[in-house]
Amino acid sequence: MTSSESFIPFNKPYMSGNETTYMLEAHQRGQLAGNGPFTQRCQSWLEEKTGCTKALLTHSCTAALEMAALLIDLQAGDEVIMPSYTFVSTANAFVLRGATPVFIDIRADTLNMDEKLIEAAITDKTKAIVVVHYAGVSCAMDRIMELADQYDLFVIEDAAQGVMSTYQGKALGGIGHLAAFSFHETKNVISGEGGALLINDGRFAERAEILWEKGTNRSSFFRGEVDKYTWVDIGSSFLPGELIAAFLWAQLQHADAITERRLNIWHTYHKAFETLEGKGILRRPIIPSDCQHNAHMYYLLLNSQTERAAFISTMKAHNILSVFHYVPLHLAPAGLSHCRTSGKLANTEQLSDCIVRLPLWPDIEEQQQRVIDQSLKSLQNR
Ligand SMILES: *Cc1c(COP(=O)(O)O)cnc(C)c1O
Repeated sequence: MTSSESFIPFNKPYMSGNETTYMLEAHQRGQLAGNGPFTQRCQSWLEEKTGCTKALLTHSCTAALEMAALLIDLQAGDEVIMPSYTFVSTANAFVLRGATPVFIDIRADTLNMDEKLIEAAITDKTKAIVVVHYAGVSCAMDRIMELADQYDLFVIEDAAQGVMSTYQGKALGGIGHLAAFSFHETKNVISGEGGALLINDGRFAERAEILWEKGTNRSSFFRGEVDKYTWVDIGSSFLPGELIAAFLWAQLQHADAITERRLNIWHTYHKAFETLEGKGILRRPIIPSDCQHNAHMYYLLLNSQTERAAFISTMKAHNILSVFHYVPLHLAPAGLSHCRTSGKLANTEQLSDCIVRLPLWPDIEEQQQRVIDQSLKSLQNR
């Protein structure tokens, strides 16, 4: 059966309208390589918005996490505590350095790493805790920073989904020693592929710039601090060109408006599913009172994998795309060979089977009622 109803995609990249103007401006200025005026504007904006010491644009959140793993000087055999319920890059960036991700379970309310399980996972090889702020809702950062302090560990925020979210009034990305943002087209603020490394512990600032610029001191040279630039450390090409930064600048200028629109859409969904939650048909997201989120995602937790599969296929038959993720990393082939678990990951395994994500993007407003009506129908006629 094919539906005559128009197609509603899961995601549609937002455009502010100024992206191409700024890209042309970069070309007319004659600099398309990285670290030009648009890169600097974006980085200053990120520094102001998060309060971080230094922000560096990268090709992706993945690349920023790889830089973080280099900066904390991970050695083969070191351990890094993280959730298994996350995107592969959270683990891969550390596996690339020969470190072992140690997975702990998530909380049933936020689907974030359960901070009560961290202490039991710490060994004398543990070097860092990598937190993932799922759906842009913060992990329990006060407790996590306290543990890091007590055991002398680094905290790295995978804040890929957390741009414009806060925890106790503090911007996500501005709390751990290091943090990574994503500007991938599926995130809130985008540049196609893109990301940023945020440095909150000033000790890393100088070396981060060197790793970023292929292991050279070119950034110091540009500032006139040294009279020539040369190879001084390991590094790679982590910086994007000015076209990406120009596109991103147009988006950052609209970051408040994007967040507001997404929050409105999020709240419309939230209200619409309240009754079904009351009937035990689903569970809605839970936002702790000290977290202000950015409406990165609206998800429902259904009662089983079978109910989820039925929901997704009914929606699809009506031309509406809903999706799920993640295959827990500890069950994935590479996870089995490179990682280990600490304790049972019961919430991870159960919740990843039951989650479904609904379309959420600025401009969906006029079609959102159709998504809601069809969802309610699909769920009530199970
Ligand atoms: C999207 C995402 C990433 C990867 O971001 P890229 O910019 O595509 O590298 C990493 N971690 C989480 C939690 C993500 O959601």
